[in-house]
Amino acid sequence: MSLSNGRAYLAIPGPSVMPDAVLRAMHRASPNIYEGELHDLTRSLIPDLQAVAMTQTAKVAIYIGNGHAAWEAALANTVSRGDTVLVLATGPFCIGWGEVAAQMGVHVETLDFGINAPVDPARVSAHLAADTGHRIKAVLAVHVDTSTSVKNDIAALRAAMDAAGHPALLFADCIASLGCDRFEMDAWGVDVMVAGCQKGLMTPAGISFVWFNAKADAARGDCVTRYWDWRPRAAPELFHQYFNGTAPTHHLYGLRAALDIILAEGLDNVFARHATLARTIWAACDHWAADGPLQMNVAQPAHRSHAVTSAGIGSPWGDKLRHWCEHRCGLTLGIGLGRVPADGYFRIGHMGHVNAHMIMGALGTIDAGLKALDIPHGRGALEAASSVIATA
Ligand SMILES: *Cc1c(COP(=O)(O)O)cnc(C)c1O
Repeated sequence: MSLSNGRAYLAIPGPSVMPDAVLRAMHRASPNIYEGELHDLTRSLIPDLQAVAMTQTAKVAIYIGNGHAAWEAALANTVSRGDTVLVLATGPFCIGWGEVAAQMGVHVETLDFGINAPVDPARVSAHLAADTGHRIKAVLAVHVDTSTSVKNDIAALRAAMDAAGHPALLFADCIASLGCDRFEMDAWGVDVMVAGCQKGLMTPAGISFVWFNAKADAARGDCVTRYWDWRPRAAPELFHQYFNGTAPTHHLYGLRAALDIILAEGLDNVFARHATLARTIWAACDHWAADGPLQMNVAQPAHRSHAVTSAGIGSPWGDKLRHWCEHRCGLTLGIGLGRVPADGYFRIGHMGHVNAHMIMGALGTIDAGLKALDIPHGRGALEAASSVIATA
């Protein structure tokens, strides 16, 4: 017998669940790329992409590529070979961004905050204050590290940079957080922000974005190449300059539908929904953790993502639980990533097109898996989770 037939839930931290409206919008013949609807639709995306990033002043460039492409684009437009960047590591993603910089011939300094805690702004401030020659050109931070589920306080980071009186640019990777956790590009003083379309933006993987302000644009180093140059993409005189070639036609239709969904709900409501569903998951985890090996990766709620939750459960229980949930019940959980045993962790993706009954279903499935596999766990997780939903 299988209990998995029916609608599956891909509860991994990207790609995320795609709304039917996004899929329907993409199910069409190829449009005319020379004039008409596609041009109007593409132009209409720009102010909405600025709105979700909460910026009125930053420009946005769209790339046909995943988040890694946006990482490289952000650097290619700003740094020169021989420059120095400072990586703030709270998991493997920011380290990965630094590796991209290193391969471009940039010196990378890294402050490592481990995998359970956010960036400590005081350490950043001290490091920058010691850089009296202002060699450091950019500070690279991840808003939410998707492997550890650590969320960094980007506004506090900006305050620390200002306190040090350092002119470095502030880069933020919001690939896992945009459209899930509150992010305010202008108010928080972020110079460059990158995101992809396949997480909070609910569109199949394939396009990514770089938002940049005038200060970042002026930094322009010697790494910029024709394809990665954000200037023609952000201010095209001809339509094909948006993408340096053929447009990602169907992704644009899908993204249009996704942005319509987000803006119709309202960003504040989107953030509140993610926050409440995250608290629902944490309530269940707290009860499971009361007796047995399961432990959330991040102790303090304020330091946790609202889009992904990482939990350790000991090898090989992470693997066994994931397999049980997927094959018995149709729920796919994320694997452990980075400096943790891949088979001793699991992650719940709760980003984008996710509602209360999906989360309660996922938690109920995990609860059943813990029982079926005889993994010791505290009781009352589902009761606690439903109380969060009931009183939200
Ligand atoms: C997913 C993710 C990436 C990588 O994005 P890809 O689309 O897989 O290239 C980078 N940073 C963060 C924080 C992510 O969540």
